[in-house]
Amino acid sequence: MYNIKTASIDVTYRCNLRCKHCFNFSGVPRRKEMTDEELRNLAEEISELSIDSVCLCGGETLYRYELMCEMCQIIKKNSPQTLVNLVSNGILLTKEKAINLKRAGFFMIQVSLDGFTDESYDAVRQSNGQLSKVFEGINNAIEAGLEVSIATLPHKKSLYEFESIIDYCHDNNLYELRAQPLMPLGRGKENYEELALTSEEYDILKDIFKKKEVELGNKGSKTAINWGDPLDHYFMLQEVNYLPFLTVNAYGEMEVTPYLPFTIWDLKEKGLSEFIEMRIPEKVLVHPLINKYVSRVYSVEDMYYPDGELPRMYLEDNLNIMKEIEEIVL
Ligand code: SF4
Repeated sequence: MYNIKTASIDVTYRCNLRCKHCFNFSGVPRRKEMTDEELRNLAEEISELSIDSVCLCGGETLYRYELMCEMCQIIKKNSPQTLVNLVSNGILLTKEKAINLKRAGFFMIQVSLDGFTDESYDAVRQSNGQLSKVFEGINNAIEAGLEVSIATLPHKKSLYEFESIIDYCHDNNLYELRAQPLMPLGRGKENYEELALTSEEYDILKDIFKKKEVELGNKGSKTAINWGDPLDHYFMLQEVNYLPFLTVNAYGEMEVTPYLPFTIWDLKEKGLSEFIEMRIPEKVLVHPLINKYVSRVYSVEDMYYPDGELPRMYLEDNLNIMKEIEEIVL
């Protein structure tokens, strides 16, 4: 018996930034994204699954913030125990938006903070000096009563700022600091050499985290320091024999993970309820291509596949293997 615990839905690939590490090339969407109506229907279907948490991701999700509030309300109405979170770069997070997100029932907002100074922040985010707006956005979220998680990419220019970043999280009673390694995907691949830490630099980071963990522990801090490893997706899939999470891109295509260019189910053709009724999550990992690309990943470097081997994710269309998956199930 399988149990779907979480869902992640990309609501748009529009974005006000063009970050150097963005694995999904957010900026201007390449194709027509899901309509408001399609996203409302998806929220309705997801609410019937009683899952633990739903994350609305992007792109800059706040471009569709009114719709996200509606989606959150739909999910919470039918499934009050489901935690609904969103991801944002924080620059557009005004007081009013933060209050409305809280009213709609959101639990947590994950805000990206890849540096503590304009120089280090813009080495990745290329925002032209908008870091102060991120801090404002975080304050707005705190004042509105939302939990705040900080997502951060450790890179060469931010490495020695982590003591300050962690102190900032503790001082503001934030939920967590979630550090994520650079992935060799999308713009992250194009800028890998420039940004990626060496193994010696990772060791320095590890020591800083260890020291700060002890300090936070002694202070009884609420802030957790977590390593948000994208490999966890792969390891979980290698361990279980079913798909324990739902991943939907902004074009309405379901994927095994956001890091592999396979469409396993196209919601424009058939709804989520059919995906569940046909018990696709129990069989999808049997597909030879899924099996091959899931089982070979043991390090962040393994996430990369050479151009030409598979479609370039988010630049070219996914390989649609929905019919083959249906045949496996039937
Ligand atoms: S990393 Fe986030 S903020 Fe940056 S371009 Fe991608 S979606 Fe936008």
